[in-house]
Amino acid sequence: MMSICKQLQPTVHIPPCGLNLEAFNSRRQTNKVVIVMGATGTGKSRLSVDLATRFHAEIVNSDKMQVYEGLEITTNKITKEEQCGVPHHLLGAVQNPNADFSADDFSDAASIAIESIVDHGRLPIIAGGSNSYIEHLVDVLDYSFRAKYECCFLWVDVSMPVLHPYVSKRVDEMVRNGMVEEVRKMFDPNASYSKGIRRAIGVPEFDRYFRDEKLYDEKTRARVLQEAINEIKDNTCKLACRQLGKIHRLRNRDGWTLHRLDATEVYRRRGNEAEQAWKRHVAAPSAAIVDEFLRS
Ligand code: ATP
Repeated sequence: MMSICKQLQPTVHIPPCGLNLEAFNSRRQTNKVVIVMGATGTGKSRLSVDLATRFHAEIVNSDKMQVYEGLEITTNKITKEEQCGVPHHLLGAVQNPNADFSADDFSDAASIAIESIVDHGRLPIIAGGSNSYIEHLVDVLDYSFRAKYECCFLWVDVSMPVLHPYVSKRVDEMVRNGMVEEVRKMFDPNASYSKGIRRAIGVPEFDRYFRDEKLYDEKTRARVLQEAINEIKDNTCKLACRQLGKIHRLRNRDGWTLHRLDATEVYRRRGNEAEQAWKRHVAAPSAAIVDEFLRS
């Protein structure tokens, strides 16, 4: 538990004599949390790792499907390599594929993770697309979270007409990377698609294909497979729109000052130009926002 002393730290941070800067930097972050929001595919994972490597932070996943073990490709989990050595919490933490991990469960587990990150003198960054998890943690939990932590909300936004073709191509890439075989391992003709990890986009859509593929000739099999892939693309675009709608609703509430980072340019460009656009429109401004937040 966080001590009263930590909660009552002064807002103007001048390192007292005799305290080394590193220890001071750790202390000043103790009651602050950064929250990275955004629709699926907008670059939340990348931004959180960028920030974590710069600000001595650890990441708490808030994507309700990525909390489960398995379906790494299908749920687009950040890889070990992409994590760049930054510790990630609540990523693949739930082993039972049928268990429901409610907003209450998330809030409890995230609170423990955040407290331990803070205790290690690091900055917690919560990142993920499940806005109901974030809302529950920050606002619904008897307001205890707000009393303990000051929040800095970053919202990575990409114009939907630009994001949709990107997430559709991402589905094709997932298929190339082995999504069909990954989901096949999870296929159970008697399992429910309204529970646990099987709710993930990519699982229900393949049901017909896995159920009947042996009955089809080659041409029909290819057609049914393609229909499932198209449905996944469609459902991913719909998810992005729904998530954006929730972000717009949250930003109109008291206490939800979201810093919007428009990443659209990044998605319009390729290669080095995209990298430059990321730095200019997302990485640099968000680092400045977090720096200011930690100094305040
Ligand atoms: P809701 O209240 O609609 O569940 P939410 O904010 O709690 O919304 P979202 O992240 O928007 O959570 O997830 C909604 C649904 O989108 C999930 O139940 C799942 O079907 C799908 N989904 C979310 N994240 C992923 C993912 N990483 N991979 C596949 N499907 C996902």
